[in-house]
This record gives sequence, C-alpha cells and structure tokens, in this order.
Amino acid sequence: MSRREGERYSRQIPLIGVEGQVKLKKSSVLVVGVGGLGSVASFYLAAAGVGRIFLLDNGIVEESNLQRQIMYTIDDIGKPKAIVAAERLKRLNPYIDIEPIQEDLTESLLSKIIRNIDVIVDCLDNWEGRMIIDRVAHRYGKPFIHAGVYGFYGQLTVIIPGKTPCLRCIFPKKPKIEESPLPIFPTTPGVLGVLEANEALKLLLGRDNLLANKLLIYDGSIGLFEVVEITMGPDCPACKEYY
Ligand SMILES: [Zn+2]
Repeated sequence: MSRREGERYSRQIPLIGVEGQVKLKKSSVLVVGVGGLGSVASFYLAAAGVGRIFLLDNGIVEESNLQRQIMYTIDDIGKPKAIVAAERLKRLNPYIDIEPIQEDLTESLLSKIIRNIDVIVDCLDNWEGRMIIDRVAHRYGKPFIHAGVYGFYGQLTVIIPGKTPCLRCIFPKKPKIEESPLPIFPTTPGVLGVLEANEALKLLLGRDNLLANKLLIYDGSIGLFEVVEITMGPDCPACKEYY
C-alpha cells in the first residue's frame, strides 16, 4: 500500500487494521447491474478500496434513470452504463482495478467470471437474472448479497452456499409484480445499495454478524427496518440439487 493510499484510508484503518485494508485490496467483487442499487453499492466498494471490481450491465443510460441512478449525469444519456460507471469509479479511486463487462447476464458468462470473484452483489431489477446468480453461485460455492427494491420497499439478505437458504428457499415463487417498469422511490435503492456494500465489505473482511440467515426488510414510507430469521426450505428443489 502506498503512502497516499494509507492517507486515503486513514479514517477506516483504525476500524479494520492495515491487514484489513490489504485484504480489501486483494479482493474481487462482481456487481451485477449498475442501476439504482449498483450505482451506490459499487461507489462505496470502490471508495473503500476493494482491489478489483467487475461491473456487469448491458444497459444504456436513459433520462428516466437519473432520478435514482446517481452514478450518471445528463452527459451520459445514450452511453453504456458499465463503461461510464467504470470511468467514474476509476476517477474516484485510481488505486484499484475496475473492469466493465458490457454484456447480458447469462449462466455461461457468469460461470466464466465467477472463478475469480470473492463475492457477488446482486443489484438487479428482475427475477430471472437473480435465479441465474443463485444457481451459478451455488454451483461454484460463492457468496452473494441479494437486495431488491420496489416503491418504498426494500429487502436484503446475504446468501452463503451451504450455510444459508438459497434464494428459492426464501422466495419459492416469482413475486407477482405486474407493473413495468417498476415504480421506485429515488432513495430506496440508495438505502439498500449502501447496506449491500456494507455486508460485502464485512464478508470480505471475514467479520461475523452478517445478515445471513436473516432477511432485512425496509419500508421507507414509515421509516421502518425489520430483520426476520429465515431458514432453508425443507422441500426446496434448488437446495436438493445443490447439496
Ligand atoms: Zn433452497
């Protein structure tokens, strides 16, 4: 770690130690989706000094993104999100590697990337993509942070293959939400994105007390946070397949 890096991280090193900082620098995180959640989660992961961050998104910045996707400005409209986000994060922290992947999420793509990844951060807005993460993460035994947002509502859990329920145990059926695009209050993905980065950093640092085997529920309309215990579903077909 250079002298300037020491200075950059001087307010967090008292909390995590130099060895914790080095651990972060040696870590790789994949952020899937650089929208509302991903803008915030990847910003904090980069700021904190995670050494290698992959940004997977095949979207283009649109005007309607800007009420919540704080990575982007009006100059970015029409540009690929992964590329713009990577440039922005490189300017935030030049001491780390940022790798944009401007492609659709598929099982084969994720299977290729996942070997070099320590933790995946699910910042998606669709169920099909999450199921791909769930399957591939379990196949390769990689942890991931799940968050989802809708309106004022948000949810988050840390999934560790073999130690926690899989996503299908928690949500056996695809949620019935018919609106498209989903209504999102601007601050909801902000709150959940920060919490995702927080759990990812704790996980990379090897800390206890993760939101694993627990589901955090947030209702911004009344300022409520609630954490409920969750367990593996005895009849979960996915878990039976994995273990
Ligand atoms: Zn399961």
